[in-house]
Amino acid sequence: MKRPTILVLGAGYGGLTTIVNLQKLVNANEAEIILVNKNDYHYETTWLHEVGAGTISPDKARYPISKVINHNVTFVKANVESIDVNTKLVGTSAGDFSYDYLVIGLGFEGETFGIPGLKEHALSLTNINTARQVREHIEYQFASWTLDEVKDDSKLTIIVGGAGFTGIEFLGELGNRIPELCKEFDIPQEKVRLLCVEAASTVLPGFDPELVDYAKAQLSKKGVEFSIGTPIVEATAEGVKIRKDEEDFEFIKAGTVVWAAGIRGNALVESSGLESNRARIAVREDMRAPGFDDVFIVGDCAFLLNEEAGRPYPPTAQIAMQQGVTIAKNIKHLINEEPTEVFVYDDKGAVCSLGHEDAIGTAFDRKFTGKPASALKKVVDDRALYLVGGVGLTLKKGKFKFL
Ligand code: FAD
Repeated sequence: MKRPTILVLGAGYGGLTTIVNLQKLVNANEAEIILVNKNDYHYETTWLHEVGAGTISPDKARYPISKVINHNVTFVKANVESIDVNTKLVGTSAGDFSYDYLVIGLGFEGETFGIPGLKEHALSLTNINTARQVREHIEYQFASWTLDEVKDDSKLTIIVGGAGFTGIEFLGELGNRIPELCKEFDIPQEKVRLLCVEAASTVLPGFDPELVDYAKAQLSKKGVEFSIGTPIVEATAEGVKIRKDEEDFEFIKAGTVVWAAGIRGNALVESSGLESNRARIAVREDMRAPGFDDVFIVGDCAFLLNEEAGRPYPPTAQIAMQQGVTIAKNIKHLINEEPTEVFVYDDKGAVCSLGHEDAIGTAFDRKFTGKPASALKKVVDDRALYLVGGVGLTLKKGKFKFL
C-alpha cells in the first residue's frame, strides 16, 4: 500500500513544531512528510520588533530549516500559490503537490481595515524582510535629515499605529535604539518624535491594568507619546490623518509610519475551499477544518474560541506551538486509524517586552515588571528555540548565553 503523504505548509512556529513532532512520531515507512516554505530558514516572528528597531540583526532572528529537520522530512523551498482542499492539490512555485493529510500554517498578514493609503504608505513587522525594511527606512530618514540643508524635522517622527503587543514591543525597542541612532547621526534627540496612535480606548487590551500603567509610564520616560482613542483615518506619503473627535481631525507629518494594529490569516486560505473569516478558519476541537477530515490548521490561520471567556484565543506563538504538538499526534492517530485528541490550550501567561531589560508579564499566577519580567521574556524566547531545535539551537541562537 502507498504511504500517505503529509504536506505541511509554512515553517513558522506552528508548521515547524508540527514537523519536529511528526519526525519523532512517524517513521519513513509510515508516511512521506513534505514541508513547503517560502524561505530555507525559519524566522522568529516574536523577535521582529527587535529586527525592525535595529536592536538585533535579521540573522540573529533566523536559522536554517535544515538544522531542525531530519531525513524523514523532504523540504521544498517554494512559494505556496494556491490551495484547493476539494481536489487536494496545492500549487507552488516548485510545482503541484497532492496530499493525504494537509497542515496549513502560513501565518498572518497585516489587516488595514480598508483605511485609505495604509497599504501603500505604512511599513509593517510582518516577516523578516518587512522588519529589515523598517530598520533601513528609519536609518535612511535619519541619514538624509543630516544631509538636508533645509531640515524637515518630521523626517525624524516615527508613528506606530497600534498599541497592542507588537506596537508596544516595537516602541520599547525604539526607546533604546533612538539614542544610539541620534549619536550615530549627530542628531539632537529632542528632534525625534515617537508617537503611538491607537483607535481603541486602551493600551495592551487584555493585559492587567496595573501592568499597562507601568508599561505606559516606562515608555513615556523613553519619549513615547500616546494618542489613544484616535483612529488613523488615512495615510499619505507625508504622514497620517487621525480623528481626535467626531469632527476634529489632525494631520501628523512623519518620516516613518509603521502599522501594527491588526492581523488576519494568510489570504491563500480564502480561496482554498474552506470557510473562513478574515482568512482564519474556525477549527474543530482536534484542530481539523470543518468538513475536511484530512485538513489541519495551525497558528494564526486557525480561529479557536475560548469557551470559558467567551472570546477567541489571541493568535500567539505559544498557542501555535501547542497546536503543532497536538496536530502531529492527531496525524499519527489517523494513520493508525485511532480517534483524534482534543486540543487543550495550556496558557502559560504572557510577557510583553519594553526594550532593554524591561518588560511586563504574567506567569505562575504572578505579575512581573522590570528586570525579572525581561529575564522571563528571554526564557520564553529560548524555550521556543529549545522546543524546536533542542539544546544546540538554543546555545547558538538563544538570548541567555549560558544556557
Ligand atoms: P508564522 O510564525 O508567522 O509563520 C508562517 C510561515 O509561513 C513563515 O515561515 C512564512 O515564511 C511562511 N509563509 C507565509 N506565506 C507563505 C507562502 N505563500 N508560501 C510559503 N511559505 C509561506 N506571540 C507570542 O506568543 N508571544 C510574543 O511575545 C509575541 N510577540 C510578537 C511580536 C511581534 C513583533 C509579532 C509580529 C508577533 C508576536 N507574537 C507573539 C505573535 C506570533 O508571532 C504569531 O502568533 C506566530 O508567529 C504565529 O505562528 P504561525 O506558525 O501561524 O505563523
